[in-house]
Amino acid sequence: MFVLPELPYSFDALEPFFDALTMQIHHDKHHGGYVKNLNDLLPDKSEADLEEILATSTDQKVLNNAGGHVNHSLFWKFLSNKQQVPSDKVVSLKDEFNKRALSLFGSGWIWITKDLKIITTVNQDVPKEKIVLGLDVWEHAYYLKYQNRRTEYIEAFWNIINWDEVENNLK
Ligand code: MN
Repeated sequence: MFVLPELPYSFDALEPFFDALTMQIHHDKHHGGYVKNLNDLLPDKSEADLEEILATSTDQKVLNNAGGHVNHSLFWKFLSNKQQVPSDKVVSLKDEFNKRALSLFGSGWIWITKDLKIITTVNQDVPKEKIVLGLDVWEHAYYLKYQNRRTEYIEAFWNIINWDEVENNLK
């Protein structure tokens, strides 16, 4: 069985940058939906099988939902309301990250890899590289609060990054 991970903070913890209603719908309905679909599609599989499923499945429905589950499970951990020391290495990529995030067409993700490259993935494709940080730029991640103002959503993200997690991922 696949399991929706609990958020490591409350829905309103990231206000005013990410609002509580968006967080609740994003986590419970969107991520929750990927997990439910995955359980419906693969009733005999579980978390331990995810890597193999992503590497070997040819069923696009399975890949979309497995990817959605993996990407969002990563994403929640990149966020925090605790004041932490930013990573200079990562902050130095901010302008390019923001530019690429803004220009990503359609639904997808932007990531910083362990070797400090900025990459994007479309839909719920899962990055193949080791990831230190990433941002969901699907409209469902920001539309309730920011509507078409993706720039403001991207800028807001930099106020609620879990830098301890980033540091750990860089090691
Ligand atoms: Mn999402």
